[in-house]
Amino acid sequence: MLYWAIGYDEHWNRDIGFDVPAICDHPDCEKAIHRGVEHVCGSEPYGGDSGCGLYFCEDHLELKTLDASKESTALCAQCSSGKEPFEPTPDTKEWVDYKETSHYWAGWRTYHQGKVSS
Ligand SMILES: [Zn+2]
Ligand SMILES: [Zn+2]
Repeated sequence: MLYWAIGYDEHWNRDIGFDVPAICDHPDCEKAIHRGVEHVCGSEPYGGDSGCGLYFCEDHLELKTLDASKESTALCAQCSSGKEPFEPTPDTKEWVDYKETSHYWAGWRTYHQGKVSS
């Protein structure tokens, strides 16, 4: 199992990892979580073989034993009943603001500010 501080999920096009603050992906829930592996549906980054890879609070994950030889897998209500995944909750403002001010984007901002002022 992988524990990343920050990674990227190409299926849902968003940042994942335990350093990424987020809101539970259940549509009726606004609980603050992070996108670490203990909150992911499927118990693995991207959801593994059985989950959707969205991120939920502990109230919205159910532990299921899919294979008696393995540890139980955490699944959201949709995956545990074989339905389509929920629509993902958008990134938090906190995370969007962090990305805009972090070093990761500093080069981009310098470049564009230089163009505006010259
Ligand atoms: Zn799911
Ligand atoms: Zn929730």
